[in-house]
Amino acid sequence: MAVRPITITGEPVLHARAAEVEVVDDDLRTLVADMFETMDAAPGVGLAGPQVGVGLRLFVYSWVDDDGEPWRGVAINPTVWQSPLGIEPLDDDEESEGCLSIPGERFPLRRAESVLLRATDLEGDEYEIEAHGWLARIFQHEYDHLDGVLYADRLEHPLHKAAAKSVKKSGWGVPGQTWLPGVDHLDD
Ligand code: ZN
Repeated sequence: MAVRPITITGEPVLHARAAEVEVVDDDLRTLVADMFETMDAAPGVGLAGPQVGVGLRLFVYSWVDDDGEPWRGVAINPTVWQSPLGIEPLDDDEESEGCLSIPGERFPLRRAESVLLRATDLEGDEYEIEAHGWLARIFQHEYDHLDGVLYADRLEHPLHKAAAKSVKKSGWGVPGQTWLPGVDHLDD
């Protein structure tokens, strides 16, 4: 297992639709093991294939909910159905999210409160998780990565502009940049 470099916004794989996983073989199992290790080292609560430079439809997640229940797994070729978005004003404290591919930044973004995730695991078995709250947010965020969408792309005006400005100021938004958890300390 190895920690892999995390791609930074501007790298083309982050902005393109990822391809379906066709076969679960040793290469894929190694990739998933590396993704868990990279996510834990970052540290983060989710990591998608394109974030380690692999344009395949899979992500890993790891999160402990308010009841202390751990949620940790891999979602291969996932689908996500989401509940309608609420229309109340954004809450900066409760709704701010970040992304390992836009290190150090956080902005509030409206997400669906509930989702149904359907995906395949490493054994090839299909599973479903009905997620609420932060886990639902993680699934929406990671699923977006598989369609080439970063959370910054979804921000409302004027947050969208603020995020773009900060990306530019950091010298990101151009191809070829990565950071290595445990070596580079870009997160705050
Ligand atoms: Zn992300």
